[in-house]
Amino acid sequence: MLPHINFSDYIDPKEMCELLKRLIQIPSINGDETKVAEEIIRILEKEGIETYELIESAPGRGNLIIDIRGKRGNGFNLMIIGHADVVPAGEGWTVPPFAGIERNGWIYGRGAFDNKGQVTVMVYLAILLHRLGLDFKGKVRLLIAADEETQHPNHGVRYLIKHRPDVFKGIHGAIGELGGLVRINNKEFQMIIFGEKSSATYDIIVVGEGKHSSTPYGVKNPIDSLAKILLRIPDGVFFISNPVKKALKKTLGFYSYFLTNRITNKLIIKLIEKKNKELARSLHALTHITIAKTMVYGGTAENVIPREAKATVDLRGFPEQNEKDLRKIITKYCRGIEIRLRTYIPSTYTNPENSLLHNAICDVIRTLKYEPLPVFMTGTSDSAWLRKLGIPVFHFFVTKHTIDCFNPHMADEKIHIDDLMLALQGYYYLIMKLS
Ligand SMILES: [Zn+2]
Repeated sequence: MLPHINFSDYIDPKEMCELLKRLIQIPSINGDETKVAEEIIRILEKEGIETYELIESAPGRGNLIIDIRGKRGNGFNLMIIGHADVVPAGEGWTVPPFAGIERNGWIYGRGAFDNKGQVTVMVYLAILLHRLGLDFKGKVRLLIAADEETQHPNHGVRYLIKHRPDVFKGIHGAIGELGGLVRINNKEFQMIIFGEKSSATYDIIVVGEGKHSSTPYGVKNPIDSLAKILLRIPDGVFFISNPVKKALKKTLGFYSYFLTNRITNKLIIKLIEKKNKELARSLHALTHITIAKTMVYGGTAENVIPREAKATVDLRGFPEQNEKDLRKIITKYCRGIEIRLRTYIPSTYTNPENSLLHNAICDVIRTLKYEPLPVFMTGTSDSAWLRKLGIPVFHFFVTKHTIDCFNPHMADEKIHIDDLMLALQGYYYLIMKLS
C-alpha cells in the first residue's frame, strides 16, 4: 500500500513554479549548466540538504549530483537523471523564450518540458523526502547532467563515466528524461520509454577540381556530384526491430501487423499522414532506419569552383544495428566516396519483462488511475550510456496534459503546474514502491 499524503501540505506548487521560472531564465544553451546547478544548490541549502556534489568537466559545465539516503537502511538505489542544458530557442515563439512566463497555469520557455520541468520536480522530490523525514529504504541519486543535447564525449554523462565512474556504482536502476500522457483512440496512457534509437552522423566528402568559375567547361565540380548523391539517398530503409515490434503490438494489437509488414507499411503511413502528419512521421521513424540530410557545405568564394563539397547525414537505427551496419547502408549510396564518422550514440533498450523497476512504475501509473504504454523513443538521450553500463533505464514522467514526446524542441515549449505536481507524486510513489 502506498502512503496517503496530501502533497500540497508539503510542497507548494507555486514554489516549484518559481524555481522552474528561474531555471528557464538561465539560457543554458549547450553551456552554463553550472549556473543552473548554483540556483538549485541555493534552494537545497535553504532546506538543509548538503549531500550534493558539483562536478565540472570544464568551467561552467557542471553536473550536479544530489544524494538522498533513506533512514530505513539499504534497499533499491535509484538514479533519476535529467539535464540542465537546452537547445537554442529557434523561431516561431509567441512569448520570449527565456523569460519564464506564466499563463493560465502554464509555464512557457525553452526547457520548460525538456528538461528543466523534470529537473524542478527532481529537486522538489529531494525536498519532499527530506520534509517527510527520509522514511524510506535505499537511496535516491539525482543527476542533473550537462550537455545532454549535444552529447560531446568530454562533457556531461560521458565525462562522468570516464572520470567519475563512482557516480554510477551501486545503482540498481534509473529513470531517464521525459514521458507523459498520450491519448490514443480517446484512451489515456502514461508513457514508459524503454528504449531509444541510435544516431550516427557522417560527413560525405566529394573531391573534384578547384578551378576558376569563368571556365567551367569539363570541370569535375564536386557540388554537382554531391547533389546527385544526396538525391539518391532515401529518407529511410524499412526495418522492424524486435523490441519495437513487441511494443507496437501491445499498443495497437492486431493493427500493428499493417505497420510491421513491408508492403502495407507504406500504405498505412500514407493514410495516417492525411489525418495526422506528426503521427505518420513517428510511425515511419519507428519502422525505418531513417536517413536525414542535415548540413551541406562547399566553396569559399562566389567565383571559384571548389575542390571539395561536403554534406552531413544523420542515420537512426535500432539495437540490431551497430555503427558498422549503419555505415554500410550509407556507403551503398556513396560508392567510391569518402565517408567520415562524426558522432555515434548507440541504440539501447531495457527489457521490460521481469523488471522490478518496470513493474513498480506500472503499479505507480495504475495507482494514479492511468494505463502504462511502452514507448520506443526515436530520439536519443543519456540513457544509452547508462544502459551500456548495464543499468536498467526507463523514462516516465506522469502528466495530466498530453505531451508531444517526439517533438520537444518546438517553439512555445510549456508545462502545466498540475503536471509538475503529478510528476512529483509519481516519483514519490515510485520510491515508496521500491522501498
Ligand atoms: Zn532532453
